[in-house]
Amino acid sequence: MAEQFDVAIIGYGPTGATLANLLANCGLRVAVIEREAAMYHLPRAVHFDGETMRVFQAAGVADALEDRVRVNPGMRFMSPEGDLLLDWPRPQGAGPQGWHASYRLHQPDLEQLLRARLDKKANVTVFAQCRVVGLEDSGETVTLTVQGATGETRTLSASYVVGCDGARSFTRDVIGSGMDDLGFEERWLVVDVLLKRDRPDLGDHTLQFCDPDRPITYCRSPGNRRRWEITVKPGESDAQVTSPERLWDFLSRWITPEDADLERSAVYTFRSAVAQRWRKGRVMIAGDAAHLTPPFMGQGMCAGIRDAANLAWKLALCVKGLAPESLLESYQAERAPNAQAFIETAVRLGGLINALDAQGALDLGEQTASGSKRMETIAPSLGESDLGGMLTSLTPHRGTLFGQPVLADGRKMDDVVGYAPVLIVRNGLPEGVTPSAMVLSAVDHVELGAALDGLDVDAVLLRPDRYIAGTAKGEGDLEGLVAVEISTPL
Ligand SMILES: Cc1cc2nc3c(=O)[nH]c(=O)nc-3n(C[C@H](O)[C@H](O)[C@H](O)COP(=O)(O)OP(=O)(O)OC[C@H]3O[C@@H](n4cnc5c(N)ncnc54)[C@H](O)[C@@H]3O)c2cc1C
Repeated sequence: MAEQFDVAIIGYGPTGATLANLLANCGLRVAVIEREAAMYHLPRAVHFDGETMRVFQAAGVADALEDRVRVNPGMRFMSPEGDLLLDWPRPQGAGPQGWHASYRLHQPDLEQLLRARLDKKANVTVFAQCRVVGLEDSGETVTLTVQGATGETRTLSASYVVGCDGARSFTRDVIGSGMDDLGFEERWLVVDVLLKRDRPDLGDHTLQFCDPDRPITYCRSPGNRRRWEITVKPGESDAQVTSPERLWDFLSRWITPEDADLERSAVYTFRSAVAQRWRKGRVMIAGDAAHLTPPFMGQGMCAGIRDAANLAWKLALCVKGLAPESLLESYQAERAPNAQAFIETAVRLGGLINALDAQGALDLGEQTASGSKRMETIAPSLGESDLGGMLTSLTPHRGTLFGQPVLADGRKMDDVVGYAPVLIVRNGLPEGVTPSAMVLSAVDHVELGAALDGLDVDAVLLRPDRYIAGTAKGEGDLEGLVAVEISTPL
């Protein structure tokens, strides 16, 4: 008989590993199926943001991760003459999410932490070196056919399946989804080096050298790791641009073999695309399987982590019979427009780096006295949804991310609430009213009062992923908000 799970996750990249952690924390029986024996070894994500760190906090790895990352001061777009075109600074203190706005990381460090945490969970089974080759959704359950390294097959069964299986997703094909191409396709060479001696002159900012002949990105990674991303011109082969002679030639403007060892290099084709369909019945896709972005904002992985945060509590409620399956309809409705907003901004920034559509990207920034432009971080809200009918009235601020105040006792709000819904009220609740969500009052926590002031509301209901489900202004509204029943997924 097939082994039974609540959720089977195909793919053990950052999206799958984060989703598995969140679901495991909810007590679900989780299977993770990964075709490779070991973690992906080539250079990839070097940046993530404060919202993503907040999801890692919910997953339980944020504190350990903080020791391995580096706070990022920001990104600067430079003209071929060395002038600052566009500045995207990030504050150096903790931001509204309770974490810094922007971090530099070495992606394998993150994946290691996520995997180590799952190793300790009795309710998670990882099937390594196993490729999913078949998916059959009966309407009640999904049967997965899994092929091991030596070709033998086994069958698993799960109530729901999430394909976190990357850009060439098998799951996306199974649910019959194409990709909407958002118009960007370029080959870039990515080179990671390990400095042998200190080179503070290279700087801590990410630098985008907007040279129409050959745009180049420099990233200051944690420790002695540094990265350059270099456009590959048409007609240049992968083998040509990755030969050590050519690599050192590219890097000669900044470093020589005296300064650093080459760690890894690879040529990637950066694309921009969003899947047309993210779910069919009990099968869903998340992460790179659902969307692809050029890396100019460092947001590809972050989008997958946001998918995991959006999906985990919904799946947990459905598995536990605490919400109707129609809740899952909100997944694509909410996530696709948010992911697309980041991709479109990244494509515009790509236009500046390539000097193809410099004005389009410069329009993102405010003029400064020195003549350059200054850009603020975008925070697109989720797409429209009534959470599968759970919200009967659609109030202001719904679908925007609520911050994470640090409470008077020094604890971050999410650490107090856990992965659960919370109702934040200004003055307590009327006599006899008992909402299903935990209640925090601004009477006890002045920091929450300031957050309510900022939104100009008297109460706010947060989902487990910390997006706003609804708001209330005045007592009449509050009754409506209390009536919204989002159960705790734990
Ligand atoms: C050069 C570069 C720089 C980047 N920089 C950033 C950045 O700074 N910030 C950022 O946020 N993002 C960045 N990204 C993007 C980020 O790396 C990806 O978005 C992220 O790794 C995607 O994670 P994922 O888990 O969705 O997919 P993947 O990491 O691709 O994982 C998918 C997994 O599924 C497995 N799999 C596939 N098919 C099957 C199957 N049939 N059965 C079993 N297993 C299967 C694969 O083996 C793989 O392990 C960058 C990407 C690149 C290439």
